[in-house]
Amino acid sequence: MSWWDIAEGSGYDSFGKKALRVDLVQCAFCGELGKFKTHARLENTNTSGKTLHYDTLKCEQCGNNTFVFWAIGSGGLQSFHQLPWPTRTTRWPDHWPDDVGRYWLQATRSIEAANWDAAALMARSAVQLTLRHAQAEGSNLYTEINDLGKKGILPPVMVEWAHEVRVLGNGNAHPMPGEVGTTAADAQAVVEYLNMLLKVVFDLPHQIEKHRARKITKP
Ligand SMILES: [Zn+2]
Repeated sequence: MSWWDIAEGSGYDSFGKKALRVDLVQCAFCGELGKFKTHARLENTNTSGKTLHYDTLKCEQCGNNTFVFWAIGSGGLQSFHQLPWPTRTTRWPDHWPDDVGRYWLQATRSIEAANWDAAALMARSAVQLTLRHAQAEGSNLYTEINDLGKKGILPPVMVEWAHEVRVLGNGNAHPMPGEVGTTAADAQAVVEYLNMLLKVVFDLPHQIEKHRARKITKP
C-alpha cells in the first residue's frame, strides 16, 4: 500500500466532479460540517496522471484550519484524510439507511459521553430498525434475530450471541418506576452487537457488491 493508492477501490462518490467533497469534511474544532474556504492548495501528479491534493481549509464558523490530503481514484471515487480530525463520531456510511444511521450515531455518541441508559436505548432501537430493514419476522427481537438466522442472513454465532446481550432481551423502551440504570458493560455489549449486525447486514453485502463490480470492469 502506497499513498498513491488512496481512493483506489474504496471511497466516496465524486459525482463526476474533480473537486473535494467538502460537504464530508468536518471541522475538528467546532464540529461544523462542510463550511470551509480553501486557504491554500498544492498538488502533485504522477506519470500515470493521478493527482494527489494537499489542501488547507479555513473553517468559516470558527476560523481554524484543517489540512486535507485527498485524491480521486481511477474508478472515480475519492478519499481523504484530514488533520486534525474530529474526536467525536459524527456520521455513518452512505450505504446504511439514514434512520438506522441516526440511531447508531446517537448510541455511539452516548457511549462516548458515558450515558449508558441512552446508549442502550438507542442501540436497541437501531438493532430493531436494522432487523426490519432486513425483513425479519417475529414478535420480539430474539424471534426476529432467529428468523434472520433461519433465512441465512445472520450466521449462527450472531443468533447465539444475541441471547447473551441483556439489553436485547429487556423492554428498555418502556421504563418502569424504580428501575436500576443500565450498566456500562450492558450498554457496551449492545452497541458491540449492533456494530457487528450492521457489518453483516449492510457492510458485507455492500463490500462484496463493490468488489464484484470492480472485477467485471477490469480485464
Ligand atoms: Zn470550525
